[in-house]
Amino acid sequence: MILEIKKLMARAAYTGEISFDYQPPQDAVMLPLCRIEGGVKVTANYEIFEDDEVEVILKLSYRLVGQCSYCLADTEKEIEYITDPLLFVTARDDYDNYVFDGNRLDLSQAVKDALLFSQPEVLLCKQDCKGIKID
Ligand SMILES: [Zn+2]
Repeated sequence: MILEIKKLMARAAYTGEISFDYQPPQDAVMLPLCRIEGGVKVTANYEIFEDDEVEVILKLSYRLVGQCSYCLADTEKEIEYITDPLLFVTARDDYDNYVFDGNRLDLSQAVKDALLFSQPEVLLCKQDCKGIKID
């Protein structure tokens, strides 16, 4: 999950898109009784600015498989999530943005963060699931 910024600049590839698959650890899944099946497909669109700052927009898609949060029936959901533009800067004391060394830009932390934000609070078998019926 590395963008070689210096190499991209040498090729004048100031904007572009890369895709890769990310296999998250099971503890990256927040919902109990759920898992991500087949890994996360990540697409990163980047733009390198003149001051060496880099803007990245991540798109994550994956299949969340598990049990309905209300009734425990087996269910699954396709998740697609697009981040706001993320800024990578070279200033070490910038706490609002991601930091990189101006050369190798590691997307790992941003992808982990995006995966966290992308997850729904509940996984439901259907929109209006009423939960387990108790008569
Ligand atoms: Zn349900």
